[in-house]
Amino acid sequence: MLANPPQSLLATNQKRLWMPEQVLFTPAALNEDWGQQILARIESLGIPVQKLKQNRITGLRGETERETYTTSKRTLAVVTAPASQFKLTPIPPSADWQFHLAQGCPAHCQYCYLAGSLQGPPVIRAYANLPEILDNLKKYENSEESTSYEVSCYTDPLGIEHLTGSLAECIRYFGTRDKAKLRWVTKFDNVDDLLSLPHDGNTRCRFSINADSISRTLEGGTASVMQRLQAIRKLAVAGYKIGFVIAPIMPIENWHEEYTQLLDAAKAALDFDCDLTFELITHRFTPGSKGVLQQWYPNSKLDLDESTRSVKRNKFGGVKYVYDKDTMKELRTFFESAIAVRFPKAEILYWT
Ligand code: SF4
Repeated sequence: MLANPPQSLLATNQKRLWMPEQVLFTPAALNEDWGQQILARIESLGIPVQKLKQNRITGLRGETERETYTTSKRTLAVVTAPASQFKLTPIPPSADWQFHLAQGCPAHCQYCYLAGSLQGPPVIRAYANLPEILDNLKKYENSEESTSYEVSCYTDPLGIEHLTGSLAECIRYFGTRDKAKLRWVTKFDNVDDLLSLPHDGNTRCRFSINADSISRTLEGGTASVMQRLQAIRKLAVAGYKIGFVIAPIMPIENWHEEYTQLLDAAKAALDFDCDLTFELITHRFTPGSKGVLQQWYPNSKLDLDESTRSVKRNKFGGVKYVYDKDTMKELRTFFESAIAVRFPKAEILYWT
């Protein structure tokens, strides 16, 4: 029998859900049963719906990038996933394959990983042909050993779940597979509708968490870290495998104290045995992501100073700015030992 949640988690009310100002449906999306299911959800929430005459999403560009950003982030477009998405790509070190139930995210993180990696206005596109997307995954399953699939590379799937129901459908689908495993990560906390799903232990739900001052100043529109801890506790109690993604790790002033507090709070939330992993990701940026982020968040205090960073090149010649070797080593040593003390059974999947 589980003890009640610790006092520190009791006062965290659920975050208000993201409600787009407009929802656009393409004709192709309306032709799909899953698209009709999404339409019924949106209409029941009373959100204005626009049924488009063509399958292209247009009219989101403003006078400036910031204007385009603002309009796009208030818009949900329900579309069909293009053919290119049926050819899956690997996503090391997180999973064997990535697939997508949507592209674009309703949150406003000033370090957003999507900046520079998605083309066009950052509108949130949810896919109406989800059954076809799920059916396609079988082609990539390995019959000998388990195959993992990451579904949160281009979106926060829980952030739009109340509008689509697509994450629950993925969890149900993976619950029917023997060797396929689902992984998703979020900064939201509306998990109640997921608790009784037949997941069969095949889904790992991860929560992205960070030091309080980083989350408060750089993460907009998300649940608070304490709300996320409350949500992960609920999922663990419901028998899900769980995980923390601590990202992006930054050596801010007082980082020892702040990250110690974070790990103490995580420990208080998970004061029972559970299947837990950690992924540790330090902050990095590219010239492309810096350019986009500065247009989206012109007043951000995010540190994007190349002169204080080391340069890392990938095999295609692309450049990334990361922390220098000594800082990386100090951070890594801290996290590995602080996690081992509090969660001796948890595996650290990777440090980067
Ligand atoms: Fe970007 Fe992730 Fe934040 Fe969404 S939750 S805005 S994808 S960093």
